[in-house]
Amino acid sequence: MSRFEQTQRTTLKRLPQRAEYDRERVYEILDEAFICHVGFVFDGHPYVIPTGYARVEDKLYIHGSAASRMLRTLKEAVEVCVTVTLIDGLVMARSAFHHSINYRSVVMLGKAVAVEDPAEKMEALRAFTDHIVPGRWDEVREPNDSEMRATLVLSLPLVEASAKIRTGPPIDDEPDYELPVWAGVIPLNFTTGEPVADPRLKAGTPVPRYLREYSRPSKQMEPFM
Ligand SMILES: Cc1cc2nc3c(=O)[nH]c(=O)nc-3n(C[C@H](O)[C@H](O)[C@H](O)COP(=O)(O)OP(=O)(O)OC[C@H]3O[C@@H](n4cnc5c(N)ncnc54)[C@H](O)[C@@H]3O)c2cc1C
Repeated sequence: MSRFEQTQRTTLKRLPQRAEYDRERVYEILDEAFICHVGFVFDGHPYVIPTGYARVEDKLYIHGSAASRMLRTLKEAVEVCVTVTLIDGLVMARSAFHHSINYRSVVMLGKAVAVEDPAEKMEALRAFTDHIVPGRWDEVREPNDSEMRATLVLSLPLVEASAKIRTGPPIDDEPDYELPVWAGVIPLNFTTGEPVADPRLKAGTPVPRYLREYSRPSKQMEPFM
C-alpha cells in the first residue's frame, strides 16, 4: 500500500492542504529524524516521553531498558501516539500573527508490541544504531545475552499515520506587503562539530570516516576506513 488510509483520527483540521499520506514522503521524514515523542496514558495520566527510533519497512522500532515504565506500559498493547518533527526554517512575516516555521512532522497512532524473536530484536537494534549513525553497528561489539535480556524492543506497525509539511515564504495579509519590514525565511540546518575523543580512548585509534563526515540527512558512504 503506497498511501496511508486517511482516517477520522488522522485527518488534518487546520490547513489540510499541508497533509501528506503518501508512505514514501512520510518515510522520508522518519528516516531523516531520529528522535520521536511517545505519548501514552498510564494510570490515568498522559505521558509524552522523548526517545530514539528506527524505521524498518512498515514498522517503527523503539528500545530501552526492560525496566522502563514507558516500554513496560507500551508492550501491553496500549494505545500510543508517536510524533516526529523536523525543523527547516523560521518564517518571518510582516505581521506578528503570520510568523511561522517551516517543518515536516509525522503523527503515528496504534499499538506497539514487544519484539520477542531474537533475530528480529537484533536486527531492530542494528537498525536503531545505524539509523542514528550509519556504519556504527559493524564497528562496535554486539550486545551479549545479558544485554539483550536487559533490553526491550517494541515495534509499532505503521498503519495509521499522517505527515504535515510547511514550506516556502511567509503568507502575509495583502496590505502588509507594503510594510518596510524584512520578511522571508531563516533556514535552519543540522550541523556537527569536531569529534571529541573519550579521555580513555585507546591510543592511536583513528576517528572513522563515518564519524568525521557525519551529517544529517546522512550521506551514503563507502564502508568506513
Ligand atoms: C534525545 C533523547 C533520546 C532518548 N532515547 C532513548 C532510547 O532510545 N531509549 C530509552 O529507553 N530512553 C531514551 N531516552 C530517555 C527517555 O526519555 C526516558 O528517560 C527513558 O526511557 C527512561 O524512562 P523511565 O521508564 O525510567 O522513565 P519513566 O518512568 O517513563 O518516567 C518517569 C518520569 O521521569 C521523568 N522523565 C523520564 N524521562 C524524561 C526525560 N527524557 N526528560 C525529562 N523527564 C523525564 C518524567 O517526569 C516521567 O514522568 C531518550 C531521551 C532523549 C531526550
